[in-house]
Amino acid sequence: MAIAPPPAKTLEELRFANSFAALGDAFSEVRSPTGIPNARLVAFSPAAAQLIDLRPGEETRPEFVALASGNALVRGMEPVAAMYGGHQFGVWAGQLGDGRAILLGEVHSANALGSGPWELQIKGGGMTAFSRFADGRAVVRSTVREFLASEAMDALGIPTTRALAMTAGDEPVLRERIERAATVIRMAPTFVRFGSFEIFHYRKGFEAVKALADYTIERYFPQIAPADGPVRYARFLEAVVDRTAMLMAEWQAVGFAHGVMNTDNFSILGLTLDYGPYGFIEAYDPGFICNHTDEGGRYAFGRQPSVGLWNCRALAVALSSLISEEDRKTALARYEPAFWTTYLVRMNAKLGLLESADGNVALVEDIVTLLAQRRVDWTNFWRALSHDDASALAMLGDDETSRAWFAHYLERAESDPRADAKRRIAMRAANPKFVLRNWVAQQAIEACEAGDDAVVRAVYDVLRTPYDEHPEHEAWAKTAPPEFAHLEVSCSS
Ligand code: AMP
Ligand code: MG
Repeated sequence: MAIAPPPAKTLEELRFANSFAALGDAFSEVRSPTGIPNARLVAFSPAAAQLIDLRPGEETRPEFVALASGNALVRGMEPVAAMYGGHQFGVWAGQLGDGRAILLGEVHSANALGSGPWELQIKGGGMTAFSRFADGRAVVRSTVREFLASEAMDALGIPTTRALAMTAGDEPVLRERIERAATVIRMAPTFVRFGSFEIFHYRKGFEAVKALADYTIERYFPQIAPADGPVRYARFLEAVVDRTAMLMAEWQAVGFAHGVMNTDNFSILGLTLDYGPYGFIEAYDPGFICNHTDEGGRYAFGRQPSVGLWNCRALAVALSSLISEEDRKTALARYEPAFWTTYLVRMNAKLGLLESADGNVALVEDIVTLLAQRRVDWTNFWRALSHDDASALAMLGDDETSRAWFAHYLERAESDPRADAKRRIAMRAANPKFVLRNWVAQQAIEACEAGDDAVVRAVYDVLRTPYDEHPEHEAWAKTAPPEFAHLEVSCSS
């Protein structure tokens, strides 16, 4: 028997609660957003709306724009700003946030698919008790980048927080220049971070660490929840280590550099969180630093896997009042194998190879080295390889070294029982044609700043189906043209 989907809801019909707020005022501050005046809806994600059963068309109502821009709440919302700290660039920085994101509430929807309710958060909705010296605002530039990247990463199958909508207004906001205020409504099962635990640990608030761990386990790790006593927290750390390692493998395989891998930007669910000066790698280079502010290259692309482990160690310290040293070590030891397992699965899919006994490790390592030596566009090489070997060879440079690699590769490919055409189709489903290149994001930003939102929306549409050809947007699949080659992105947002 087919079960009819639940009827989609109007904004007012969504049922909100806020279990995080119910944890108590040690964890958050009760705070309503300060709306941005004269806001317009820049972009909307029907894909995210579906997750909360929001009825198509609701985004055109003034009530929706008022909510998305921080000017109104919906019945049942209990807005709070969460408290957390973090290690920034390797140094404990104390209390950090949340200085400009307000958790509005959680929606219980039939589409939540067992992952529990979706939390809605507004970013850029004004000051909170944790704003420190800053204004609680976000600008158009960084908000376009967060909106597009969130929905693009999801379409690539990479765990991420989501973006429901973006608005922009005319309130001036001072950064390196005067910019305009914008908001994004983000969604995730929870926005709890590594730094949410660290802040209480370093303040010797061990009861709060335990309360937050129990809350997180019971709601988001139901498979662990039945465990009692110390083993419960050990399993929890293991699960977070696994998810973090898997996320790092996804980033390396797709060529995503996060830019600011501080522990306050690391999700307890292993989601990509807090899109700032990120970059999708173009000319492949493990030394790629996407964040102009990261002078030492602590968060260079090739260092991401080891920083992920560093962050897990920081989380283990934050949970040390609950987990013995031995159990912490055991949990952290899972990181490397978990990373390599996921990474090799992804790389074999990119190569169009069914896994072999040796995992095709040499083949993977050799091509990654070659692409780095020759600074080949990461996305375009893999996409070319999923069409035909000749164009991929041309991109790599047709010489003896490349030919030797291809000979080894074809030997493996020929032992694949699938017909070549079928193999290529599978490869094109593993190698996107489109990622959000910084230079394309820049086009969308400049148009949006001038009041034209059509480019943001068109880029969104392409990135939601990144494995399709989209011939009308061929240009967006290209490496940055020379005039954009030196585009710089910084922490300023
Ligand atoms: P980030 O490096 O962007 O993850 O930011 C670190 C912390 O600074 C976060 O907790 C933010 O809430 C806070 N923050 C960043 N920008 C602002 C702002 N314009 N107003 C208030 N807080 C901010
Ligand atoms: Mg952050």
